[in-house]
Amino acid sequence: MKRLILATRNANKVTELRAILAGAGLDVELVGADAYPEIPDVKETGVTFAENALLKAHALARATGHPAVADDSGLCVDVLNGAPGIFSARWAGRHGDDKANLDLLLAQLSDIAEEHRRAHFACAAALALPDGTERVVEGRLEGTLRHEPAGTGGFGYDPILQPLGETRTCAELTAEEKNAISHRGKAFRALVPVVRELLG
Ligand code: IMP
Repeated sequence: MKRLILATRNANKVTELRAILAGAGLDVELVGADAYPEIPDVKETGVTFAENALLKAHALARATGHPAVADDSGLCVDVLNGAPGIFSARWAGRHGDDKANLDLLLAQLSDIAEEHRRAHFACAAALALPDGTERVVEGRLEGTLRHEPAGTGGFGYDPILQPLGETRTCAELTAEEKNAISHRGKAFRALVPVVRELLG
């Protein structure tokens, strides 16, 4: 069985991609970056989601000698010309402070009316082989931004993004409901033919 590394320490992401690969009948052993604690995290110096995903996938493939997948994602707001984008995790200045990021974004958009509150989550997923071969796929979840947070599930900007066609925010969906429509779910599912091509 071929080993495939996913560049994340988030067990939920590993579980999600493992289920998608198994569901597609791919005979691949997926492990998270936790299996290689000696390998340091890569600096995300790219200026697009795809560049950052590729940087992480190549670094892990080179360091382990195994094919590696990495994803990079964020929230892109139309009226902010795509920001926070690659800066989503540190929009308020400190990496990973979800509440501060969300509060700052809501304050910035406070005067913006309903019809101009379109936004999407974007995810790039990259697959790299130790020989340098690379592929990138992308997924999006389109929606509108609420004026107030709602829901307790999920993370990040989930409480303010209401997917198109939904009455609930992402933070009010179950994990299964969100995975079925999410940017990451779409990008991971788009990886299936790529994994089949390069590892199958
Ligand atoms: P990462 O690529 O998973 O590290 O995500 C970067 C940042 O984008 C996160 O810290 C969140 O602020 C935001 N983000 C990415 N995906 C989601 C999502 O599914 N829901 C809410 N926020 C997200």
